[in-house]
Amino acid sequence: MGRLKKVVRHHLPIQPREMSEQRVTRSTLSPELGASRSNGKKTPKRRRRKPPPPTEDSDVEEIAEESSKIRPKRPRAVMRRRRSPIDAAPKLGTHVLFLFVGPDRIVTTLHTNLLGFSTITALQELYQEGFIVLESHSPESVELYRMWLYTGRLFTSVPDEEETTAEELVLADREWGRLANAYMVGVDLRDEKFANLIVDAMIEKVDGSEFYPTSLATSLYTHMPWGDKMCHLIVDFHVWKGLGTGIEIPHEDAVGPQQFIFEVQRGLKAANGMNSDPRIVEPWRVDRCRYHVHL
Ligand SMILES: [Zn+2]
Repeated sequence: MGRLKKVVRHHLPIQPREMSEQRVTRSTLSPELGASRSNGKKTPKRRRRKPPPPTEDSDVEEIAEESSKIRPKRPRAVMRRRRSPIDAAPKLGTHVLFLFVGPDRIVTTLHTNLLGFSTITALQELYQEGFIVLESHSPESVELYRMWLYTGRLFTSVPDEEETTAEELVLADREWGRLANAYMVGVDLRDEKFANLIVDAMIEKVDGSEFYPTSLATSLYTHMPWGDKMCHLIVDFHVWKGLGTGIEIPHEDAVGPQQFIFEVQRGLKAANGMNSDPRIVEPWRVDRCRYHVHL
């Protein structure tokens, strides 16, 4: 087999410990927009929106109403479906690809049958002397992709961000970086479904808390192609969640790429004050597909 040109973009994974985020109630908010903890002013109303209700793709099943009628004292319970149809079994097959990941070239495998055509093609372009090498991604990020392929789930969050110890808060904070790194794996491996899932996960995390990421711009803008959807989402977080305060010192994004700063400032101007009006719905709630790639 001939040697194929390596096309992967070189970039170092974002170091999770460098991640930071902004709680919109911090004193970095300008007085008219928010408040410091010391003066006890309230956060703008839109910051306090509750997360949307769970979607239909839950894997638990409620016991039918009839059973509670027969035994009225029994509390409504949920039970996990233990058996699935034979036809629904994943067709794993036996063919696996060997990947060498990260600067230390940690070996991992992927069942070819789980991969889309575009991802297989992307992996073939990463061949180096007969081996697939993903040295610009961390083993942790590739493992997140791998776990998703095999389970359909994204394992990035800490149990409960509301009742956290200081250590758990740091772990929760690192999730921004984990998600961004995993997104870059999804884009480089041309797995649109995975990349879009990460976009949705980012939105879910932002909608479910008072925080949004304020340290991802440099890495995303440096390594993602022009017009990347995650870059667009980060800009909208700054405009609609942070009201522009995240591009001020001490946030890392304050020294972000010029193009990023320009896009946030343009977004603030275009929002024309609507971003601080809690009656106006954030753009990602109107249509999250605007941040997806659909080829
Ligand atoms: Zn979509």
